[in-house]
Amino acid sequence: MPPPLKYHPAMSPVITRFAPSPTGELHLGHAYAAWFAFDAATRRGGEFLLRIEDIDGARCRPEFVASIEADLAWLGLEWSRPVRYQSDCLPEYRAALDRLAAQNLLYPCFCTRAEIKAEIEAAGGAPQGPDGPVYPGTCRTLDPDHAAMRVARGDSYAIRLNMALALGQVGPLNFHDADAGTIACDAAPFGDIVLARKDTPTSYHLAVTVDDAAQGVTLVTRGVDLLAATHCHRLLQALLELPVPDYHHHRLMLGADGKRLAKRDHSATLASLRAGGATPADVRVMVGLAV
Ligand code: GLU
Repeated sequence: MPPPLKYHPAMSPVITRFAPSPTGELHLGHAYAAWFAFDAATRRGGEFLLRIEDIDGARCRPEFVASIEADLAWLGLEWSRPVRYQSDCLPEYRAALDRLAAQNLLYPCFCTRAEIKAEIEAAGGAPQGPDGPVYPGTCRTLDPDHAAMRVARGDSYAIRLNMALALGQVGPLNFHDADAGTIACDAAPFGDIVLARKDTPTSYHLAVTVDDAAQGVTLVTRGVDLLAATHCHRLLQALLELPVPDYHHHRLMLGADGKRLAKRDHSATLASLRAGGATPADVRVMVGLAV
């Protein structure tokens, strides 16, 4: 039986956030997620925050940051503190990495995607983790001097978490989801996750964990497709001694094809709905929320 949470946020003011990536226009799925977070906080006298997840320089574009902020304002959603841009927070992610490195939980991985694929094929397959096939651990046992030499000479690398060591360090953990209740944390199926790359001192899992703590988020609301990721985030919270927020993983908005709405569903963008004469109240009805 996992131990009880060391911190229960029901005792704290509810602080939620909406955390889109500026890689496209917001659509109905984002409107639902943003309102879900906003309602969860403001109905309980709490705060709603905005975070822009813009660490992927190749895919994020400034014009989408502007359109996200304009769409949210049109919906009537106001955030109570300055927007947090992940691209401004790289030193914080670096500090978290340094902390994990000091616990000897990280190693550089020089494998290319093709090499990982070949290695998995040669081994006759790999378990399927929530982020894809589990990394076979090729670089986990590299001689540290050899690895340091490769880093020094400028080779490309990712920084991976040694999952087995990390799990051994923290012992049993759990987290609380408003619908599913208390969930025993099990990050093992992810294998040695990538926490950073040579030129980007973070990854989705690390940045989200550091950000939610830095922003004082007490209730993380997001789509149920990210429930698996919460297992990793809970592990990182334990390793970095960060407070544990409560979670509410909500339903996803589906398109006419029954699939999750995606950036390719242009008819569902808030900009196109607004241009077509829809009001924010109409959008609330479309996403199944009471007006
Ligand atoms: N940026 C992520 C997305 O757009 C959400 C981050 C999170 O809620 O953890 O799906």
